[in-house]
Amino acid sequence: MPAARIRVRGQVQGVGFRPFVWRLAARHGIRGEVSNDAQGVLIHAEGAALDAFVEALSAEAPPLARVDRVTREAAAARTGLGGFAIVGTRGGPARTQVTPDAGICPACSAEVLDPAARRHGYPFAACTHCGPRFSVVERLPYDRAATTLRDFPLCSACRAEYEAAGDRRFHAQAIACPDCGPRAWLEAGGVAQPGEAVALAAARLAAGEILAVKGIGGFQLACDAKNEAAVAALRRRKRRPGKPFALMAPDLETIRRHARLSEAEAALLSGPAAPIMLLEAAGTALAPSVAPGQWALGWMLPTAPLHLLLLRAFGGPLVMTSGNLSSEPQAVDDEEARETLAAVADAFLLHDRRIARRLDDSVVRHAAGRPRLQRRARGYAPAALPLPAGLEAAPPVLAFGGHLKAALCLTRDGEALLSHHLGDLDDPLTCAELDRAERDYAALFDHVPALLACDLHPDYRTTRRAEARSAAEGLPLVRVQHHHAHVCAAMAEAGWAPDAGPVLGVALDGLGWGPDGSVWGGEWLLCDYAGFERLAWLKPVPLPGGAAAQREPWRNLLAQLDAAGLAEAADELLAGRPLAALRAAAAGGVNAPPGSSAGRLFDAVAAAAGLAPERQSYEGEAAMRLEAAARPLLATATPYRFAEAGSVADPAPLWHALLGDRAAGAPAGLLAARFHLGLAELVAGRARELARRHGAGTVALSGGCFQNATLLELCLARLGDLTVLVQAATPANDGGLALGQAAVAAVRALRGPP
Ligand code: ZN
Ligand code: ZN
Ligand code: FE
Repeated sequence: MPAARIRVRGQVQGVGFRPFVWRLAARHGIRGEVSNDAQGVLIHAEGAALDAFVEALSAEAPPLARVDRVTREAAAARTGLGGFAIVGTRGGPARTQVTPDAGICPACSAEVLDPAARRHGYPFAACTHCGPRFSVVERLPYDRAATTLRDFPLCSACRAEYEAAGDRRFHAQAIACPDCGPRAWLEAGGVAQPGEAVALAAARLAAGEILAVKGIGGFQLACDAKNEAAVAALRRRKRRPGKPFALMAPDLETIRRHARLSEAEAALLSGPAAPIMLLEAAGTALAPSVAPGQWALGWMLPTAPLHLLLLRAFGGPLVMTSGNLSSEPQAVDDEEARETLAAVADAFLLHDRRIARRLDDSVVRHAAGRPRLQRRARGYAPAALPLPAGLEAAPPVLAFGGHLKAALCLTRDGEALLSHHLGDLDDPLTCAELDRAERDYAALFDHVPALLACDLHPDYRTTRRAEARSAAEGLPLVRVQHHHAHVCAAMAEAGWAPDAGPVLGVALDGLGWGPDGSVWGGEWLLCDYAGFERLAWLKPVPLPGGAAAQREPWRNLLAQLDAAGLAEAADELLAGRPLAALRAAAAGGVNAPPGSSAGRLFDAVAAAAGLAPERQSYEGEAAMRLEAAARPLLATATPYRFAEAGSVADPAPLWHALLGDRAAGAPAGLLAARFHLGLAELVAGRARELARRHGAGTVALSGGCFQNATLLELCLARLGDLTVLVQAATPANDGGLALGQAAVAAVRALRGPP
């Protein structure tokens, strides 16, 4: 009988992999054993159907498993093998991974909705294929005693399921039932209300109340998405005037009534990561305040049984937004929520399962044929990302990322751990989150960096933190230019090898510190991981008022029109604003740093089209409105032109044409469409020409502007014959920055002391 030693690498622990192997073995008549060890799962197998058995290991892997590699070598047959056994961990402590939290699986869904089942109506059902993981784990190795479920000793019925190899709850660490597990209750006015928690909550939502719901990775705020008074009240109380609210629907059919939904999007919504997906609004409208001025709405399905039961009881779509005041991190523990959300929520749907770690809902958008992460958190973190071949030998790196959309990146043994989204570091509470994540990831993954990486910007909190650690621990610190890091993130995610030569990177972004002391953000770079050459850029214009120019789009319109020789038009369009003072300041170089930012160009065009608010209530607000307006007219509009002189792309011709359109009474959407088309022509034309001139066969697109699906698709359509690297598993905005920094630091470490 043939015998083999089979090793499976990837995300194969804590996901029901050993019982899966056990069932496969039974089906294929295989004898032997399966165990966990430091490198994954190890199998000794004997039987005639070995080939089919090995093939099925990756082809039929359980839903939460990710099989990276299966290796097989011939082994000596063992005597006395009775059947197939699941054995414990072999060869010392396993380097167990933590898998991301997983949305409720179909089997658990059916169970909580089945009146005859033991867990009927139970909000905390879970199994090896679903349930909380990263949000409940306190330390490794991952077993029940290391999670917040340790507060709930298993009853005998749950214990039996936990120990039965054929059960889908075999070694599922987060299982629970009404007899032994967490419980939910509804609290109003500081008092737990008598009655069934979910039914009480649904009734209050139906009556137009706002509820704080303790979710998987933090508190959420919920209200009836069709009740304008409730949604408007939520905006007021949360102090969030414009930023779109996410929605949760009981099922896909409900989403289809309000949005365009492809099969691929439906599959991702229903899958284990259970993210928010941005979907084009279509069909029946919701309350106008859900997402003012947007063409896309963020939808998710119930992620936990608690949500499933609540949505079924309520029977329609709910606004489901993070439980915080605008810009602060969402609340995770009950006391914190009672305090910060007292003025927002009418009642609290609480439970006694502690949240070990704050995790926002992830946001995904389908663009250019595949889902792309816009915010990477619950359901995705902390899944490891493979680094390009050749980086296995690099010392462990800790990269600190940027300032907005902060996320850390830890590397080791050829893998990168990109932390969950931490938030914007303008907020002091988010800064505390950064410090906590730094400690948390180091402890959880037993990671000791030999090298640190950060941005060039001297005032980022992450830069200061990296400098402090470098000084305190004597660790070398690699400072990586912002847009170089963006492009390298796209390269690293695509597995671009360190010795594969340079790519032509295009970074269209908000703002990043340039090594020349100006602010960059519209760059064509020839780069590899070790370094870059800035080949071309958008014409720099002053950012009048510095940071204020980020919030107030009209300031960028002033700078752009003045630079295009259209100062009189600026006087007319921007009458009533302190133009003289800003011009004097810009002329004197006072608080008006020159910037080549594509993001600020979007702001200026949105302001000219009348689509920008006077002051943005969130980053990207004006640009998102511009994209929304552009979409219906893309097929018929013609592109605006840029003047290309040497390295500089000058939008002056665009401004002349745009003002002409405006004077002729063209609709805002036409201006928006012509701008998108013109920018895509510029991006692609320049990239193609520079790539050819410098012998680069591959283009990489990164930076926050490429989260604009319309721009991305227009650019890709114009680069169809080239290989183009675009991120999908990591965000193209600053949420992915740390991955690029880490790759740069790793390569520089391999090539000599930094
Ligand atoms: Zn399940
Ligand atoms: Zn139980
Ligand atoms: Fe950036």
